[in-house]
Amino acid sequence: MLSNRWEPAIIEAPSICPTPAIRFSPLPITVCCTVYSLIVAQSNFILCCISASTREPMPPSTQPCDILIDIGGTKTVVARAGNGHAIAGSVKRPTAQEDPVGMLASMIEEVREDHPVRGIGIGVPGPFSRPEGMVLNPPNLSPSWQNLRLRDALHSRYGCPVTVENDANCAALAEAAFGAGTDEDLVVYYTISTGVGTGIVYHGSLLVGRHDTEGGHQVLIPPHLNPPPCTCGGAGCLEALIGGRSLADLHGVEAHALDDPAVWEEVGMWLGMAMANTTALLDPNVIIIGGGLVAHWDAISPTLQSTMDQLIHIQPLPRIVVEKLGEEQTLLGAWCCLEGSRTTVHDPS
Ligand SMILES: [Zn+2]
Repeated sequence: MLSNRWEPAIIEAPSICPTPAIRFSPLPITVCCTVYSLIVAQSNFILCCISASTREPMPPSTQPCDILIDIGGTKTVVARAGNGHAIAGSVKRPTAQEDPVGMLASMIEEVREDHPVRGIGIGVPGPFSRPEGMVLNPPNLSPSWQNLRLRDALHSRYGCPVTVENDANCAALAEAAFGAGTDEDLVVYYTISTGVGTGIVYHGSLLVGRHDTEGGHQVLIPPHLNPPPCTCGGAGCLEALIGGRSLADLHGVEAHALDDPAVWEEVGMWLGMAMANTTALLDPNVIIIGGGLVAHWDAISPTLQSTMDQLIHIQPLPRIVVEKLGEEQTLLGAWCCLEGSRTTVHDPS
């Protein structure tokens, strides 16, 4: 049984349906669902109810499962979840250089065993197209992934709902549902490793704006002060100041090997400014920090907190905490997206 707003709540199901439908409470509409997936999910639900009256309950080995996928720059993880978000089995392989759909299908077959696939939730690196469920041109994936219509490709193979979401947003959803942001209304998540990604979760649903949030590219140094260039084409962004790639460029050593306390104090100062900006705009309950930077949290945190103390006067300070979830973070967020897309079908409101 889950212990937060993502807890599946049993709702009244048609008497001929073999298993009760589940939904999140209290308002679970995520932006990652699409009309396309809703139509497919609704069709499956109706078929389930029609066929149930003439069918014996399925044995455990053929119970439907969800497939959850985390596509990273170097590793891809495919996992099977049963009734709920618990991971029942997973495989990890180097991310495909060629034929990514073929590789994913092979991994899915390996983890699903004899279970029918009920839905597939995927976390992908950005940039991606949410309306089309399409990977665009992530810098750390091979050209075979570029402009790949991942949702359509896997739906045509398995005939089930498929959701695709940015991995930072997946992490934000997972932390809000199961990690450091449970029971909070407004959760902001920063992942800081090579680059800086962000996700915002409000009452269990993602806030993405027209395309996506890009908190890593909030500008902290104005152009006339000759700020360092950023990967986005601009300069003076948070990512250009504290991202792992930028720190390595600035100091001539990999970020994880930096041991000068003054460097991490400066990182804490820039991050404190970003947290102050975030607080001014969104007034969140909690800001969660994740990614490789967390390894240096003790060196960063004092300056971060003192910077926020200096800069924030009108609003109460939000809690600033590190992420709680480990390797399964993106998988759990992908499950949140998938479950959210199903919920919108059953939600009577
Ligand atoms: Zn930038």
